[in-house]
Amino acid sequence: MIQKLIRRIFNKKNPAGGQAVIIPPRKHGIIRDHISPCALNVCKELRARGFAVFVVGGAVRDLLLGKEPKDYDVATDATPEEVRDVFRRSRIIGRRFRIVHVMCGRETIEVTTFRGQAAPAMGDEEEEDSEDQRKSDNGRLLRDNVFGSQFEDAARRDFTVNALYYDPEKQEVWDYMDGMQDLKHGVLRIIGDAETRYREDPVRMLRAVRLAAKLNFKLDPATKAPIRALTHLLHDVPKSRLFDEMLKMFHSGHALESAQRMREEGLHHGVLPLLDVILEQPMGKRFLTLALQSTDQRVNADKPVSPAFLFASLMWHEVLTLWNKYQTEQDMRPLVAFSEAMEDVIQTQVENLAIPRRYTAGMREIWSMQPRFLQRAGQRPYRLVENPKFRAGFDFLLLRCESGELDAEVGQWWERFQVANDHERAQMLIKDEAPVKKRRRRKKPAGARPAVEE
Ligand code: ATP
Ligand code: MG
Repeated sequence: MIQKLIRRIFNKKNPAGGQAVIIPPRKHGIIRDHISPCALNVCKELRARGFAVFVVGGAVRDLLLGKEPKDYDVATDATPEEVRDVFRRSRIIGRRFRIVHVMCGRETIEVTTFRGQAAPAMGDEEEEDSEDQRKSDNGRLLRDNVFGSQFEDAARRDFTVNALYYDPEKQEVWDYMDGMQDLKHGVLRIIGDAETRYREDPVRMLRAVRLAAKLNFKLDPATKAPIRALTHLLHDVPKSRLFDEMLKMFHSGHALESAQRMREEGLHHGVLPLLDVILEQPMGKRFLTLALQSTDQRVNADKPVSPAFLFASLMWHEVLTLWNKYQTEQDMRPLVAFSEAMEDVIQTQVENLAIPRRYTAGMREIWSMQPRFLQRAGQRPYRLVENPKFRAGFDFLLLRCESGELDAEVGQWWERFQVANDHERAQMLIKDEAPVKKRRRRKKPAGARPAVEE
């Protein structure tokens, strides 16, 4: 205890030279054989050349928690060029952080050189406008490619539990930030002063929420406190980075929990303002809950999930609201109104999130099938089942039924139609269905089922 205190004081005065608590194999429980052979090989090769090398970050954290790591990061005192020269299948990537990707089979290991500490939070007197380290006016880090000691590398990481280093050779865990303590107590604690660290990189706020949901950890009060007042900083973050972070969140297997926690912290305002609108409508909330639950189930069963489907779900109730509004207030024909609603919703989100075109195309496909599920006469159902994206559209329809937005009967009809033979199909067609265009428009309050569905 006293030793720790002395170390802390010492560290504050001398940010470049902190000492790690070294935890031996019998005390941490990581079994080396559970680590990806690719990561082990990267460590072995670098070690053989005399470099210091550790598995670091989320992988160590997850191994300590008995979870399977999603990916492996390795930290070393070798420079990116030195690392690249060791591995035939490797390349240096990144401008902001130069890292090396080492490939083996399908796996990629990210190798980073120990990085100098960027934040002045730990008493660092780093010049703000030095060549390799710049901050924007609001404190955001634009570049930080300064190499540093292992301690500095630990200090510039985001959370204490993400700053643990595992040495596969000696099988030791090196802990500079009391991460083991937090790990035991299930606490996610940011390293240094929370506000400064969020200003340097606002994405850390999203990471805080995502990791807390994934690990089922509590956010330490000082880590949590500044978030609400700083959510606006997310507007400065490149949209493509926000999008990547959102995808990670929704593909984490804890999407529902993450969305709820995001909302609690007010974080969706900067990222997905629609989440707020949707969750305020009971039907939207139910739909979203079911969509995220089924995404989580698929991820946890190792099944693929489609970002287009996910984003189509997130925004569906906004499409419905606009669809209804354009018909009732602007007297548009149902299908014209539907198409306008889709485009407007996509436009609003693209401004916030930079959803890549390949996904917005998929979202449109899923959405545009929806009104067509209600046309069950003539040749139309035959054409629809032949659509290459039918499965996604149909799964989406089932979610709509399950959420109570549509009659379960519609989903059941399509379930049967898919497998029915020609004769049965002919029998199933709805003979007296009026063509959509001629249907009378009715005024309905916002949020109610759009006229075209009746
Ligand atoms: P996941 O389980 O999603 O992979 P992770 O913590 O491993 O979680 P990565 O994005 O793989 O997340 O990052 C690897 C490590 O890099 C983190 O554990 C952390 O130490 C460091 N890191 C990542 N993003 C940041 C950031 N924005 N600021 C500081 N350190 C970061
Ligand atoms: Mg990781």
